[in-house]
Amino acid sequence: MSRIKVIAGNWKMNCNLSESQALITEIRGMVRDERMNDTEVVLFPTYLALASATKIAEGSTIKIGAQNCHHQESGAFTGEVSASMLKHIGLEYVLIGHSERRQFQFETEEILAQKINAAHANDLIAIYCIGETLQERNEQRLWTVLENQLAGALKSTKSKAQNLIIAYEPVWAIGTGQTATSEQAQEVHFFIRNWLVSNFGSDMAAATRILYGGSMKPDNAADLLSKPDIDGGLIGGASLKPRDFVNIFKAAK
Ligand code: PEP
Repeated sequence: MSRIKVIAGNWKMNCNLSESQALITEIRGMVRDERMNDTEVVLFPTYLALASATKIAEGSTIKIGAQNCHHQESGAFTGEVSASMLKHIGLEYVLIGHSERRQFQFETEEILAQKINAAHANDLIAIYCIGETLQERNEQRLWTVLENQLAGALKSTKSKAQNLIIAYEPVWAIGTGQTATSEQAQEVHFFIRNWLVSNFGSDMAAATRILYGGSMKPDNAADLLSKPDIDGGLIGGASLKPRDFVNIFKAAK
């Protein structure tokens, strides 16, 4: 089954409003010149830039998503933004469970399951991030950790290939310049796809996009993206450099 590739840029806590607007405008212009490529491009600026980013991206192939959402619809949750508020401004995607949020905001699978449910209830595509630390990999706990992250957050959801994307992001590869080899990444993506077969059925598993994230750059993207179960990339650092980001996009053939 052929799956449309996704190249996603997670800007994290970078770029103020004007910088975000300039970056989206520049990427929009560069992506337009590559019209023949049917890869999806999704950008994740900070909350502050979301509304204006959707306007700049309008009429282009670029989609905009949020880096997080709260699991409740509304109420006394100071500093939070709900999935329905994101949908209201025209977003289609939301990142859930990025390792930085697991580490610094102590997000657990229980909360992440609720966030995924909130995203689904509001017709947002959840990009659910999973990945092991170096210590977990070295101690051969990789498969248990990934299984727990998948089962803990996804089993209680009504996820389908249309509303879920999984991003495999080994924590040791994020922002370190140390990329997983394409063989290491493919091995994990194959494991994730098989987990989806067992838990959601083979049709859903065959249609669900699984992205790789962790120091993806123009010079390693083509190799990673050539693997059969790697359906795109979630890119941090390189997504802030328009030329690099667009070169990764071009590698997704
Ligand atoms: C990320 O934070 O999702 C990420 C993959 O970052 P980087 O590309 O900088 O490793």
